Amino acid sequence: MFEQKKQVNSIVIVGGGTSGWMTAAALSHYFANEKVKITLVESSQIGTIGVGEATIPTLRRFYGKLGLSDLDVLKATAATCKLGIEFKDWHKLDSSFIHPFGIYGQGTKEVDFHHYWLRQRQVDNVYPLADFSLGVQLAKDNKFAVPTTNPESQLEIFDWALHFDAALFAKLMREYSENNGTTLIDGKIDEVSTRNDNGDIKSVLLEDGTEIEGDLFIDCSGFQGLLINKTLNIGYENWSKWLFCDRAFAVQSESVMAPNARTVSKAHKAGWQWKIPLQHRQGNGHVFASQYIDEQAALDTLLSNIDGKLLHEPRTFNFTPGRREKAWYKNCVAIGLSSGFLEPLESTSIALVETAIEKLIGSLHGACYDQTKVDLFNQKTALEYERVRDFIILHYKASKRDDSAFWRDCQQLQLPDTLQEKIDIFLSTGELKRYPFEIFGKDSWLAIFDGFEMYPKAYDKKADNMPLEYLNKNLHYMRHRVQHSANNALPHGIFLKKYCHFEAKEQS
Ligand code: FAD
Repeated sequence: MFEQKKQVNSIVIVGGGTSGWMTAAALSHYFANEKVKITLVESSQIGTIGVGEATIPTLRRFYGKLGLSDLDVLKATAATCKLGIEFKDWHKLDSSFIHPFGIYGQGTKEVDFHHYWLRQRQVDNVYPLADFSLGVQLAKDNKFAVPTTNPESQLEIFDWALHFDAALFAKLMREYSENNGTTLIDGKIDEVSTRNDNGDIKSVLLEDGTEIEGDLFIDCSGFQGLLINKTLNIGYENWSKWLFCDRAFAVQSESVMAPNARTVSKAHKAGWQWKIPLQHRQGNGHVFASQYIDEQAALDTLLSNIDGKLLHEPRTFNFTPGRREKAWYKNCVAIGLSSGFLEPLESTSIALVETAIEKLIGSLHGACYDQTKVDLFNQKTALEYERVRDFIILHYKASKRDDSAFWRDCQQLQLPDTLQEKIDIFLSTGELKRYPFEIFGKDSWLAIFDGFEMYPKAYDKKADNMPLEYLNKNLHYMRHRVQHSANNALPHGIFLKKYCHFEAKEQS
């Protein structure tokens, strides 16, 4: 029997935060030549969450598909360039390592670079793995250059993302969407009505009595999940047995130095603090586990670790790590915080918005969908969330800190099978197993294993085919090449001033 196809002539997006406007921008671009009406409802009374300023490189691919250039976005959103994340005090107190967006060294056709590095490590003192990553070397020295499009060797390859002002990015996405025909309605939704025959959402009703009907509803209403949760009652898978952090304080401060080309994540006794540099200010926040520290102590920890003057009162957020059991149910697709949340340790929420949008567009060929597409969307979403979850858990489990109950308990975590398997395979063979639908590639996992000094017993024996003397020479050469390229780059602050200076007065 053929499944029933549902035609989509009108789409209603509920919520005008980062996820709502990104969805509107992408859908209005995709449906530019088709008669699909797109309406976005937001409530300026309620506002948006207003945080979410560190991204990963997939964001650049997202706006690139919309025809926006890096420089356009950097300028419009007061953004800085992000080469990775520096993790301070995570492994042990006074430790530091960088997770770069890029690769390490140059392998051969048969063997990945890290196996050669591991071999050398077993026979002799070897240079730190970080010396073979241009991304790390640039980030460490606070330099930046746009990666060359025609690299002579893998040693020149790295990737980058943005730290941006979330409100300015939403504004950019809004302008783009409205130029592509999206209708904005500012109003508070008071009621949501469903169809008696099939349980689909029929319409949303605003405070002033306006009723907005649609064929497909996208729930971008934030944590509450106005449609997916409050109306359709789809449950939430809670992951707090693995991820203890459930609160955050966030505050912006004046910048006191040239912006870093990396996010800084500093571990504290019951959580961690972010520092996100923008061109016109700095974002700061303390993500913490409320069962291990009280709110006042968490706030004091944050405030005593900020250098510049505060620009407003700190804001507080409560969250439950996990994901919606089904992100797409009936004619409602949850995107953004309504579909789940994982703490921003690896800046993955906006990336999960991007993948959700991409999957949604892939499900709407010919402006229609069926249950098979819905099921596939849900399966992929679940896997993407779980892969990110595993990656984040590794940071806690691998820490050697024992200076607080929080860190001691993290070391006792019983891991999800998928993560345990990944660790076991790496530690016994050196192989970096990659699962489908992982946002982070092998080199990201390698960066974390290396940062926490988790090294395997073995490596790919094919690495032994290279004579040791030759291997030594190669490693020496690679390290030199990487450093040479880093030396040639501009200081990050100068790069920004020269190519993408943000002027607040331009943004009225
Ligand atoms: P929101 O911003 O909450 O938007 C909800 C929208 O729904 C608003 O427009 C609101 O007006 C509207 N709405 C709600 N109810 C109604 C109603 N009744 N009627 C009409 N409209 C309504 N992500 C990253 O990728 N990187 C980070 O560094 C990062 N840091 C974070 C730090 C913290 C502390 C938190 C909590 C999150 C962070 N995130 C980060 C996540 C990121 O902020 C969100 O993924 C992103 O902002 C998307 O939010 P949203 O659009 O889904 O929801």
